[in-house]
Amino acid sequence: MARFDALVVGAGPAGSTAARELAAAGARVLVVDRATFPRYKACGGGIPLRTERLLPFPIDSVVEDSVHLLDVSLRGRHRFVKDSGQPFAHMVMRDRFDHLLLSHAERAGAVFRPGTTVRAFTGGEGVRIEAEGGFVAEADFAICADGAHSPVGRMAGLGADIAECAAWEVEVKAPPAALRRYRSRSLIDLGYNPWGYAWLFPKANVLSFGIVLPPDQAGQMKERVRAYTARLGLGDAEVDIARGHKIRFRRGSESIAAGRALLAGDSAGLADEFTEEGIAYAVQSGRLAARNVLRALGGDGALERYQQDVDREIMPELRAARLIGFMFYGMLRRAPRPWMFASGHTTFLWDAFFAVQRGESTYEREAARVPLLPAIARRMLRA
Ligand SMILES: Cc1cc2nc3c(=O)[nH]c(=O)nc-3n(C[C@H](O)[C@H](O)[C@H](O)COP(=O)(O)OP(=O)(O)OC[C@H]3O[C@@H](n4cnc5c(N)ncnc54)[C@H](O)[C@@H]3O)c2cc1C
Repeated sequence: MARFDALVVGAGPAGSTAARELAAAGARVLVVDRATFPRYKACGGGIPLRTERLLPFPIDSVVEDSVHLLDVSLRGRHRFVKDSGQPFAHMVMRDRFDHLLLSHAERAGAVFRPGTTVRAFTGGEGVRIEAEGGFVAEADFAICADGAHSPVGRMAGLGADIAECAAWEVEVKAPPAALRRYRSRSLIDLGYNPWGYAWLFPKANVLSFGIVLPPDQAGQMKERVRAYTARLGLGDAEVDIARGHKIRFRRGSESIAAGRALLAGDSAGLADEFTEEGIAYAVQSGRLAARNVLRALGGDGALERYQQDVDREIMPELRAARLIGFMFYGMLRRAPRPWMFASGHTTFLWDAFFAVQRGESTYEREAARVPLLPAIARRMLRA
């Protein structure tokens, strides 16, 4: 049976980042994933420049477009377009992007075992996984980076109480004229109650679009996606992939590390509640996970300090994004047209958004500029 310093379950951005950093520091790391790579992942594939900055290697080889225009509408109407003057996000297909991240982990020395669905997890003096087909591996520590459903995290007794929402993603093979129309432009369509949005992100040969909604509206997802597809004029386009998925949000101090296991990325609920993005936090938490496993391997005790690191380095940003989201969607719910008019005619709101996306500011810094934000957000929540 194989024995390692660390086992990483899941080779998405969180798992690959953790594995790369661990292997680069000399640890013996095994990464397993139920998929073979490259693999599809339901995702818009929007990589804000702040996410790119977290990676120590170029991603140009997988960038399909870079957007500087944000095209905002309310159920297809009251539209306005904001130009950030320079790209604020890259557009990637997740199969190629994740494969690139994984290849850097392998290059650093991590061992990857694809097609390995973990079915049992045991902790104790060490950790042990059992996968379909009888594969078994043991290690000193485990990083569960197994995504929003996090079956292995649950087996480790972590993350069961983390909140979630529903999302749906569609990729269509669009005619060249439609691809040209949406080049360098991301679309956000608002007006879902009590919150949520539809988006369209351009890629080289396909258009990705989808909707995020609260979990109790998951049943309406297909109908809403159909309506959005029609509004985009893409009703006749050939659908490549259409798939639902969850996004999880850690809101308080839910346990994400205990004993010899920890959660990273979506499994820990590290996505923001304003844009519902999670790749930046997956990479960040992957790094924190590696740092803490290395510390623990060096004899510095348990992994609980990982949770303190996440609480200190990631949660303030997620809390600020949440407040901004409550304020933004709350205003939209109360006064949709005046809010669209007002936000369409202000520059500071979108300049701040672009600065955060480019990594020149943070939600925390922008939220601190509005001292009344917590009070407004609370009021919007009650409304
Ligand atoms: C519709 C949608 C659109 C989104 N758009 C964006 C966006 O534009 N930008 C952005 O930043 N974020 C976006 N997100 C969020 C983003 O996709 C996630 O935050 C990100 O993928 C988290 O990375 P991760 O490594 O934690 O998990 P994942 O990327 O989900 O990777 C988890 C891995 O674990 C593996 N796995 C699961 N169970 C097992 C098991 N039992 N055994 C072995 N392996 C297992 C899976 O195969 C998978 O490869 C979107 C999410 C959704 C649902």
